[in-house]
Amino acid sequence: MSNAQNAPLLEVQGLKKWFLVKKGHFGRPDRYVKAVNGVDFTVGAGETLGVVGESGCGKSTMGRSVMRLIEPTAGTVRFDGVDFTALSPQELRKRRADMQIIFQDPFASLDPRMTVGDIIGEPMDIQKLHASRAEREEHILDLCQLVGLDHDYLKRYAHEFSGGQRQRIGIARALALSPKLIVCDEPVSALDVSIQAQVINLMEEIQQKRGVAYIFISHDLSVVKYISDKVAVMYLGKIVEIAPKNRLYDVAAHPYTQALMSAIPIADPDHGRRRIRLEGDLPSPMNLPTGCCFHTRCPYATERCAQEEPELKLVGENHYCACHLTVG
Ligand code: SF4
Repeated sequence: MSNAQNAPLLEVQGLKKWFLVKKGHFGRPDRYVKAVNGVDFTVGAGETLGVVGESGCGKSTMGRSVMRLIEPTAGTVRFDGVDFTALSPQELRKRRADMQIIFQDPFASLDPRMTVGDIIGEPMDIQKLHASRAEREEHILDLCQLVGLDHDYLKRYAHEFSGGQRQRIGIARALALSPKLIVCDEPVSALDVSIQAQVINLMEEIQQKRGVAYIFISHDLSVVKYISDKVAVMYLGKIVEIAPKNRLYDVAAHPYTQALMSAIPIADPDHGRRRIRLEGDLPSPMNLPTGCCFHTRCPYATERCAQEEPELKLVGENHYCACHLTVG
């Protein structure tokens, strides 16, 4: 696992991203999709924060808002001692070198008209990283070696490769500027299970060698368990539970986390675990439930839950949960 240090590299407070979907007329209020609705968390240098939740819970929007690939509606993002949310576009461009992203679909995210060498070298060119062509080539070759890509691939095109190889190209490109943090947005979801393990092992090796921190976004709790130091569970734009990995998987406190955990396939079907089935669909982020956002599907909901929103409170060592039933 990683060499997490104490001082947070990234500190996110009150982050919101609302998308305006309908302008209110005749005194009616504007309507928003509240994709991210006030999240707080930290990530230490060299640490991996796993972010899990159903599709549509806001985890990808959260990752992009942290990087300001989309502008947050509210909140602050302190990264490496700098208020990222206050940077001008020019300053942001320079600082982005330290915070990169890997996407789910490595095919869609890699330009089909560029050779692999140019895809990996492009961020270096944009930041004018190297004074000579030879230096640039050497750097690209080093990155290929780090991610296990054959040097012969550099003159070929991304579409000639398998999903796993393409994701290696995406990782090499993300590492080109030696970032301190990489947002990994479902980086293995599109890959076969055997290839998923290879890519995750590679990401761990890179973390050991380079000390890079990850925000690892996935809907798959088994994948997140493997790679994370701590895990945040998102539901309808909020973090409902966040804890060190082992605590979360051993003593999940939030009913939503417990339901997600109960659905992870286990090798022994006679194991006495009870599957908690969630009733109903995920409510629309345009029309959020009152009180606890999970109350419409929670098997333990009471009247209070429909009226009063629970705070994210400390329930164990570095373990926070937003539920009226949990006690600190
Ligand atoms: Fe369920 Fe109520 Fe806890 Fe929300 S606050 S998770 S509805 S018990």
